[in-house]
Amino acid sequence: MEDYRNKYPGLSSPPEMGRAMLPPDTYTGKTVLITGGGTGLGKAMATEFARLGANIVIASRSAAHHATGLAAVEAAGGKAIAVGMDVRDPEQVARTFDEAERAFGVVDVLVNNAAGNFPIPAVDLSPNGWRAVTGIVLDGAFFCSCEFARRCVAAGKPGAILNILVAYTTGAAPGHAHSAAAKAGVLSLTNTLAVEWAPDGIRVNALSPGIFPHENHGPDMLKQRPDGYEAEWRNVPALRTGRTHELGWAATYLCSPYAAYVTGMDFTIDGAERHRRALRQGAAVPIREQLPPRQADA
Ligand code: NAP
Repeated sequence: MEDYRNKYPGLSSPPEMGRAMLPPDTYTGKTVLITGGGTGLGKAMATEFARLGANIVIASRSAAHHATGLAAVEAAGGKAIAVGMDVRDPEQVARTFDEAERAFGVVDVLVNNAAGNFPIPAVDLSPNGWRAVTGIVLDGAFFCSCEFARRCVAAGKPGAILNILVAYTTGAAPGHAHSAAAKAGVLSLTNTLAVEWAPDGIRVNALSPGIFPHENHGPDMLKQRPDGYEAEWRNVPALRTGRTHELGWAATYLCSPYAAYVTGMDFTIDGAERHRRALRQGAAVPIREQLPPRQADA
């Protein structure tokens, strides 16, 4: 396959990581709670919020992930705590907000980033697999958002919520029926809660990433990409994949006072992947042919 990067420039690379797009005190004294903030994109966003002065609360299940998240925030010069929490359990969610308040005061920004996903044809997906993914993504975002909003209203403080979706949220996602349905539910929540909570001073936006390689991609996602995630640039009109700090910049803008009138918005950052069409579409390949055979089928 031809390497079109030899012939076309593609979209330019962003400024390097570590550069700030907003004033350095944008989040000074503010508390940002990020579910799944210890790995991948959550960790990248935590780092950018910390660079702008935020106190960070990393909320997820694994102690190992807590450690990597805390180290990344500290390396950026920020302060963070990590709290063990499963987003599917509203009591654990409430306890996490209690701990955040004890450490840093009422939470100002909530990033609903935690997710689970694995590619599988819909007919092979077990009820447990369906419930796991929709529970983390949809139930988790709802429980965290409501806990956050109740506390903002009680404290008489404004707030901002950012829901991390995916570029396929509004289209088809063969092999990802569970994830796509859950993310579409969160997009619906974004719109509805933006309207319900604007009078209370709470903004609700979504950020939909395209392909952003990082070191924490799980084995299920990597199996489909034997050449690695970086090679996915071939599938993006930009002729490159996203850099995780680009997402951090978008997140810090959308939750900042500079976006005070932006709410109910789904901001996509994907190098035009979502809109990609060819002059003549390639062959339609059934999902079973696209995925490696499952153990039971092999
Ligand atoms: P990731 O590294 O696997 O992150 C998922 C995070 O969710 C982990 O830190 C995990 O932490 C946490 N989590 C999972 N189940 C949880 C639960 N029940 N309760 C609390 N936390 C839980 O994946 P990622 O690529 O960074 O994805 C982050 C977000 O970006 C997701 O919403 C994903 O859909 C979206 N996204 C990613 C890409 C991409 O290219 N990477 C593209 C589009 C959208 P623990 O294991 O510690 O619980």
